[in-house]
Amino acid sequence: MNFFADNPDLRFHLHDGIRWERFVPQWEEGFRSEDGPRSVEEARELYETCLAEVGEYAAREIAPRAREIDEQGVSLRDGEVISPPALLQNIAGLRRMGVLAVDLPRAVGGSNFPYSVGAAVMEVIGRACTNTMILYAFYQGPAALVLRLGTPEQRERWVKPLAAGEMSGAVAMTEPEAGSDVGAISTAASAEGTHWRLRGRKQFVTNGSGDVCVVLARSEPGSKGLAGLSLFVVPRKENGRDNYRVARPERKFVIRGSATCELAFDGACGELLGARGEGFAGILAFMNEARLAVAVQALGLGQAALAAARAYAGQRVQMGRPIARHELVADLLLDMEAEVAAVRALVYRCTELQDRVIGLERTGGAAGVRAALQNELRDRIPLVKWLGAERALWITRAAVQVHGGYGVVQDYDVERHYRNALILPIYEGTSQIQALMSLKDQTRWMLGSAGRLVLGAVKVDCPPGEPGEMVKEMAREYNRALRSALLESLGAGGVVALAARAAAGRKAEPDRSRMAYALLCAERLVQMLAVTRAAEALAAHAPASPDRRRVAERYARRALPLVRMHGEIVRSGDRSTLEATVS
Ligand SMILES: Cc1cc2nc3c(=O)[nH]c(=O)nc-3n(C[C@H](O)[C@H](O)[C@H](O)COP(=O)(O)OP(=O)(O)OC[C@H]3O[C@@H](n4cnc5c(N)ncnc54)[C@H](O)[C@@H]3O)c2cc1C
Repeated sequence: MNFFADNPDLRFHLHDGIRWERFVPQWEEGFRSEDGPRSVEEARELYETCLAEVGEYAAREIAPRAREIDEQGVSLRDGEVISPPALLQNIAGLRRMGVLAVDLPRAVGGSNFPYSVGAAVMEVIGRACTNTMILYAFYQGPAALVLRLGTPEQRERWVKPLAAGEMSGAVAMTEPEAGSDVGAISTAASAEGTHWRLRGRKQFVTNGSGDVCVVLARSEPGSKGLAGLSLFVVPRKENGRDNYRVARPERKFVIRGSATCELAFDGACGELLGARGEGFAGILAFMNEARLAVAVQALGLGQAALAAARAYAGQRVQMGRPIARHELVADLLLDMEAEVAAVRALVYRCTELQDRVIGLERTGGAAGVRAALQNELRDRIPLVKWLGAERALWITRAAVQVHGGYGVVQDYDVERHYRNALILPIYEGTSQIQALMSLKDQTRWMLGSAGRLVLGAVKVDCPPGEPGEMVKEMAREYNRALRSALLESLGAGGVVALAARAAAGRKAEPDRSRMAYALLCAERLVQMLAVTRAAEALAAHAPASPDRRRVAERYARRALPLVRMHGEIVRSGDRSTLEATVS
């Protein structure tokens, strides 16, 4: 078994889908590095070799330990968090393979592989064991954050050990009273000589028992909201003693092998990371990467559930034939396949955009192109997070259904996949928060030009053929629905006034108090746009083979009526929820 080699859809993206020539030369700075590849072709072969090795290890070693990790969970003994030994064994194996920091530059111990490769590595590990994938992400993730914002000394002290797997990290934003509302953070940081002292509590910190934590705290007394926050690197131990206390790991029924910790800071010593007072801006890039990583986690879970359901349905016989040959089960399996393929297409569209942005950043060229790509990526991040999370829940639930009664017993893996999928719409910004972010961006974009207001803000790019035509229709539906939600909220006068402000180069942000109807529609709108973008990404590769066309058509045929339904509800102007509950 090999979780890369046995997955033709993933291999397609890595081999044919991603246009490596668009960014690998920039990542490799003209292929001048002694220990790097010499050409795009050589680089791609290197990526695929690495993926084949990880795919083999994931199937052979990681997947068989996943149930044990889930059953053991995390515990607290003498004030120390104990992770399942099998989880640490998996990480040790990945460390030996040298893949803990594939996306980081070689100078700090990484492999300098583009994000698209890193995402595929995570997908393959996530399919084998979602708990392992999560801990895996907490080496490279915090390292990338310190690398981006840190001083040369901080990079030396933290990035290299994280990349080498000598220490693991955490990133703490959430507090008991500040979850979705990051601006409500109250953990305080005060300057003391060259260091800072932190006081407060952080909640739900993944791998909070790791060796170092990047903490978002309020450094400017009296500041409010997202202003006045700064980032700090806070080591778990100072001079051999606890610098902050891991108050407890949560007992939970999802991702049970992942330590979700409450942290108590009572004068903990930390170093400022990045510019003072610019903490929220500093952490935005990390948040976007983390949201994309959650979509990849969703993909791993979805693929695991699909593979399990297919295998079971092929051998379980009822009423004289394998259940895979009963119409309803066959339909479910093909829908699962299309849903997984749609999430994957959108994920790798996003990673490719990210790789192109980073490539241009590294060479410092084409600022206009970079800004356009950045906007495309920014638009898609809430969509891919929303789609991955919500559809993984549907896919894993469908896998349970295919297993019948065996689906809910622990001898089979699908109950675990379903439980684990439940975390996806909650962390790294809930699905509702993704919906609000997308609405805000699309509103600003639509109101920014009279042309977009009339003709539509969202444009799609599809090759000729049936799936492409359906995707164009979806985009039209979305544009009509968004325009209608804004008109219903702001009135024609309000929309025109804001568009005029935008035309004059002034800020055109609608007042929240007037946006109630649009906010009410936000999750319908994000769903409409997410499936449209996923269908677009699938349609782009439909000409590559009859099989790819079949999946793209199936997805679009099911997505278009869904988009129309939500569009109709948005355009209905039904305000009953607002009248009943929101004052
Ligand atoms: C297992 C796990 C791991 C985590 N790891 C980390 C981590 O490593 N670091 C970290 O900083 N945080 C972490 N978190 C925290 C996580 O990001 C938060 O739980 C999440 O942001 C939601 O915050 P909350 O739980 O306080 O819910 P709340 O913000 O109270 O939300 C409750 C409900 O209200 C909805 N809601 C809230 N505001 C609005 C609004 N304006 N409009 C519409 N709906 C709204 C939400 O969508 C949700 O459905 C983790 C959480 C869990 C459970």
